[in-house]
Amino acid sequence: MNRIAVYPGTFDPVTFGHLDIIRRGALLVDRLVVAVAVNTEKQFLFTTQERIDFLRAAVKNIPGVEVCQMDGLLVHFVEQLGAHFVLRGLRAVSDFEYEFQMAGMNRKLNADVETVFLVSGEETLFLSSRLVKEIAGMGGDVSRFTPADVIPELRRRMMVRLGRGMG
Ligand code: ADP
Repeated sequence: MNRIAVYPGTFDPVTFGHLDIIRRGALLVDRLVVAVAVNTEKQFLFTTQERIDFLRAAVKNIPGVEVCQMDGLLVHFVEQLGAHFVLRGLRAVSDFEYEFQMAGMNRKLNADVETVFLVSGEETLFLSSRLVKEIAGMGGDVSRFTPADVIPELRRRMMVRLGRGMG
């Protein structure tokens, strides 16, 4: 059986937490499709194309992984691909309620869509795109949290957003 999983998210920007889930998830399936959501409710720092490009660069050496844009509903995307699983990462209890609801709703929309969770590794347990953005915006070192090619533009945009200038 050709096992396909979809790992959805906004990845604004990709962190080593996401990459840990991708690396471990890729070992469980034949094909892992990382689906970059075009979610109009969130105010993104990076465009869809930028989020995709950073992810593609970060996963280029991981076999069986590809990165796609996802415009609509996750279950439709999963159906179109003929995928079997949705992969999600779980950090602390804080993720649980939202993830639990999402998994339940997706199962209501399509009873065949199974959500599989990977628990965060201890290195990346506290890592989130939101905190990485805040730290970068205040001039902190984020090199342990996100790939090097993300950092210059991340710092620049967050400093502009926080009104800190570059000086
Ligand atoms: P969202 O889907 O809320 O926009 P993200 O794009 O940031 O969130 O994350 C996508 C998925 O990756 C979610 O399942 C999230 O819980 C998971 N994730 C994010 N950071 C980590 C981490 N440090 N460890 C494990 N899972 C993570």
